[in-house]
Amino acid sequence: MGQDAEILIAGGGIGGLSAALALAHAGRRVRVLEKAAEFTEIGYGIQMGPNVHPMLERLGVARAIEPHAVYPDALVLADGITGKELTRIALRAPFLERYKYRYFVIHRRDLHGAILDACRGRDEIALEASKGVVRFDDRGDRVLVTCEDGSEYAGAALIGADGLWSPTRAAVIGDGPPRMAGHFVYRGVVPSDKIIDRSHENSMIIYIGPNLHLVQYRLRGGTVMNNVATIASYRYARGEQDCGGPDELEEMFARCDPRVRQMLDYVGKDRNWVLHDRPPVSGWTRGNVTLLGDAAHPMLQYLAQGACMAIEDAVVLAAKVAAHGTDYTRAFTAYQEERFYRTARVQITARVFGEIIHADGGARELRNHLCAQRDPDFPYEVDWLYRGITILS
Ligand SMILES: Cc1cc2nc3c(=O)[nH]c(=O)nc-3n(C[C@H](O)[C@H](O)[C@H](O)COP(=O)(O)OP(=O)(O)OC[C@H]3O[C@@H](n4cnc5c(N)ncnc54)[C@H](O)[C@@H]3O)c2cc1C
Repeated sequence: MGQDAEILIAGGGIGGLSAALALAHAGRRVRVLEKAAEFTEIGYGIQMGPNVHPMLERLGVARAIEPHAVYPDALVLADGITGKELTRIALRAPFLERYKYRYFVIHRRDLHGAILDACRGRDEIALEASKGVVRFDDRGDRVLVTCEDGSEYAGAALIGADGLWSPTRAAVIGDGPPRMAGHFVYRGVVPSDKIIDRSHENSMIIYIGPNLHLVQYRLRGGTVMNNVATIASYRYARGEQDCGGPDELEEMFARCDPRVRQMLDYVGKDRNWVLHDRPPVSGWTRGNVTLLGDAAHPMLQYLAQGACMAIEDAVVLAAKVAAHGTDYTRAFTAYQEERFYRTARVQITARVFGEIIHADGGARELRNHLCAQRDPDFPYEVDWLYRGITILS
């Protein structure tokens, strides 16, 4: 198949759409097959490190995103038990000098929507909803993809951007289901004027405590507050079936400062998200098929980088495709080689950060002691990450 043959992408989340857009910029035709009935995202916030901004510029969506972004003045870490600030990353001039780009938070639908609009504006991109990919057959000269409704597509290559439970990964790597972390997340977006304690409303604040934390930041011009409460369930750790429910959420936050406990009112109790990740595994590429985003390297959210990594993946992948013509196996192998160590480091570091923020007893005391010595203008723990990547080409 020639350079004008379509590249198929399974999954139209932030990763899949970013890949479609990046490939279109590289002059390739792309078809995105999305399992859900519409292309959309869940209605909560997402944080974007400074490393992602240049990627959004390359995708041509940075200006469309900017009006929807909120720029906090600091990332504040507070002790959930005492309610007192432990340390912060100041997002002021020294941060901008060091990383060149700002840290922002945004409603997921505004981010996904801006990338989707850009995809819709490109003739090279076809978007199809209600197309859950169930299997593929890589024939060497083309990849045949079959969807749940029996429809079939032939493409020059396939990118599995089909998320945590990726069927494409099952066929490429076959390493079974992701690991359940035993962490349960409750989210809520409420009008900002409903928030009683607004002392940190210009920051992104995380209250951290023994096996729990609560994140708060404002979205949509500051009109609404995004709230995320997480517990690393004791009941799950003890092997109990009935774990992670709203009763355990309340129970685990019982030791927290009353102001933090009261913030649980801002999260919905009728739904939770059960966190999973995987240890890093290379080998995302097999023949003319590769993986991207959560399908390749699912991670816990403790560095707030899963979507940032998916967007970086997309830009690197398109650069490799541009460099290797129609040799997708070479392009995808080069992409994987360039991405593996960085994403593996984020996966592992996210687990370590989870341990640190959820520390109890002496480990909590040590953490708080070390936090007190940090320089707010030099976030050395994430310096390697926030410095971003260089795209060659
Ligand atoms: C609580 C929480 C907080 C987070 N906070 C942040 C943060 O602040 N910053 C950050 O960068 N990241 C964050 N993340 C991580 C981020 O949400 C994910 O890493 C990111 O959404 C992954 O994007 P993706 O496109 O790879 O996968 P997904 O968003 O999962 O998209 C996959 C798409 O594929 C579709 N699909 C599934 N199966 C098929 C199939 N068989 N065929 C076709 N389509 C299919 C799905 O419907 C979906 O649209 C957080 C995650 C969690 C759980």
